[in-house]
Amino acid sequence: MHRTRTFLFFTALVTSAVSLRAGEPPSVKPPARTRAEVAAVLRHAEAAPANPRALRILLVAGPKDHGAGQHDYPAWQKAWAPLLAKSPGVTTDTAFPFPSEEQLAAADLAVFYLRGKWDAGQLAALEKFQNRGGGVVTLHWAIGVTGDPQGFAARVGLAYPSAKYRHGIVDLKIAPGHAITRGFPATLRFTDEPYWPFVGDATRVQVLATSDEKSGPDGAVRPVPVFWTHEPAGGGRAFVCVFGHYMWTFDDPLFRLLLLRGMAWAAGQPVTRLDALATEGVTMVD
Ligand SMILES: [Zn+2]
Repeated sequence: MHRTRTFLFFTALVTSAVSLRAGEPPSVKPPARTRAEVAAVLRHAEAAPANPRALRILLVAGPKDHGAGQHDYPAWQKAWAPLLAKSPGVTTDTAFPFPSEEQLAAADLAVFYLRGKWDAGQLAALEKFQNRGGGVVTLHWAIGVTGDPQGFAARVGLAYPSAKYRHGIVDLKIAPGHAITRGFPATLRFTDEPYWPFVGDATRVQVLATSDEKSGPDGAVRPVPVFWTHEPAGGGRAFVCVFGHYMWTFDDPLFRLLLLRGMAWAAGQPVTRLDALATEGVTMVD
């Protein structure tokens, strides 16, 4: 069953690799969120823990590979290390372009924002980290893989061998029933980039949000996963966020909230532990 599914995913990849989207209109920066819509989500959140335990977060970035305002992994690392360190009990470390064994050994959570390679050496390091309970978060092209797609899918649930994508407005459909998405509306608009298809065992992930894309046979519209969680058999937790093409997304308080909760969840912490950072320094309108 699993082998059949994997084969079908690969077939879809091979047949679609020559049909990348072209002629897309340039994306327009989305309007700022209103204070009211952000407050409406936060209102449902449980209080963050009063005396959280020490949490060591490792931020991993790679060389920039797109134009201005896109895939700016170094700028993210520079902004988010001090942002996260504002949260009680959090200390941060940074790596470029991949952490040393010592850095992974010293971290509770590793967040990757880079173009994913995920070869045998990197996967072995990741597996060792997860097997002792380390949390993994991947942002945007970090779910891409030029090395071992199935090996990487075993770590984070599904992997993306960089086939199809679309830039622009996404009316994200958000699934209820997980602490990460608690309080979120059923649909929320972003301007970013979904990817498809993925390889791996779709039964081993919990999908938290999807985008309707022409991803099915003959261009039929089908939901593709954009946020999901995965718990590898050997231990640890992974949270995957496909968004993160445009840097403006990182200053969207509701995107931040999903990401920060995913980070806390992956680290085995109370999910709302980092919630306060969602609105830290961001612009909202009345
Ligand atoms: Zn992108």
